[in-house]
Amino acid sequence: MFKKILVANRGEIALRIQRACQELGIKAVMVYSEADREAKYVKLAEEAVCIGPAPSALSYLNMPAIISAAEVTDAEAIHPGYGFLSENADFAERVEKSGFQFIGPTPESIRIMGDKVSAKQAMIKAGVPCVPGSEGELPDDPVQIRRIARTVGYPVIIKASGGGGGRGMRVVHTEAALINAVAMTKAEAQSAFGNPSVYMEKFLQNPRHIEIQILADKHKNAVYLGERDCSMQRRHQKIIEEAPAPGVPRKLIERVGERCVAACKKIGYRGAGTFEFLYEDGEFYFIEMNTRVQVEHPVTEMTTGIDIVRTQIMVAAGERLPFTQRQIQIRGHAIECRVNAEDPYKFVPSPGRITMWHAPGGPGVRVDSHIYTNYFVPPNYDSMVGKIIVHGDTREQALARMRTALGETVVEGINTNIPLHRELMVDAKFMSGGTNIHYLEEWLGHRTR
Ligand code: ADP
Repeated sequence: MFKKILVANRGEIALRIQRACQELGIKAVMVYSEADREAKYVKLAEEAVCIGPAPSALSYLNMPAIISAAEVTDAEAIHPGYGFLSENADFAERVEKSGFQFIGPTPESIRIMGDKVSAKQAMIKAGVPCVPGSEGELPDDPVQIRRIARTVGYPVIIKASGGGGGRGMRVVHTEAALINAVAMTKAEAQSAFGNPSVYMEKFLQNPRHIEIQILADKHKNAVYLGERDCSMQRRHQKIIEEAPAPGVPRKLIERVGERCVAACKKIGYRGAGTFEFLYEDGEFYFIEMNTRVQVEHPVTEMTTGIDIVRTQIMVAAGERLPFTQRQIQIRGHAIECRVNAEDPYKFVPSPGRITMWHAPGGPGVRVDSHIYTNYFVPPNYDSMVGKIIVHGDTREQALARMRTALGETVVEGINTNIPLHRELMVDAKFMSGGTNIHYLEEWLGHRTR
């Protein structure tokens, strides 16, 4: 097992990884930007290294600064968390070339999955169900593009192979708009991702977002830990996640989960990963794979009792997965609300000093957050300041626990989206379960304050 790990991230996930290290008896080296000097995990750290000024480009995305922090502290491995450099194959490669273990998959796996066309091709080969569409990249010939679209059937969506973060996508409803839309998406993809390649998919009208968590070791063992429903999104950003997905047949999840595991074995995947799907009319359609731990991993931890971050570290150190598929049981129901420092009605970011923070508690309540009373939320990063996660025997009990938890939570000095979560937890449609990816935005459209 490692003796020392460098945590190349910030905020709640940095604290989460630090806690896992502590439990495993591993020293965690924390890195921080000048804006994060006051962070709780920095104060708690045995060792902490400042890697640059506030802007991410100069600190959390600064590969040489992070690698030299690992060198000067004699760390053996680097945990990238999520966001920042976590899905950057070049970073993973530089980490390994510098003699450190990257806590995640190989650079090759990240590269295959980072390009949506190659990811989809790998999935098709492994028998994972995908959204019908073009076979790989779209050709340049307009006649061929039109022919492909007719075969797929309108509406279609044009997506950038190198896209991410909900950008580089365009929906096309008619043939008249097709060629122009392809040209525009290509131009945008070139300027945003440095790669003009685009592909086409059938545009699903009212899907849900359901994803499968997997874990794999370096000895060709892989398991799936069930699914998460992340359909409650605003501008492609998830805000509520839950496990299991309401109303989806167990047998179907098992079938898709087994395909995901087969795909992992086929590509030699190792570490934690998530297969994201759109789910419509009883069918799963793969859209992309995330090759890292996800924000919403706690709902899976609550329903399986498996510590995903701990397992990531263990498998990176070469250990075997300590459980088999048959030993994984889904128990009860878990819900996560992401707490964002933002106006709950207009969604403008609300950084600043927290004058009062009171965290909820009680049975089945978990809070993953780095904030504290008198903490200053810097304006430089993502607005998420924590997550409230609850577990219950049933979805109803989890909902009740979340309502109580949200009722107890106090954050003063900044605005948060907690009032929004309180409203959603009593919304009849959400309470009945199975809302699609458009539901939250439609609901916001009708919301009266
Ligand atoms: P990104 O990597 O930018 O997040 P994804 O491929 O994961 O891109 O897609 C992001 C979101 O775009 C999905 O969650 C879904 O809302 C929408 N989307 C993507 N592909 C389709 C599709 N074929 N049909 C309908 N919606 C889609």
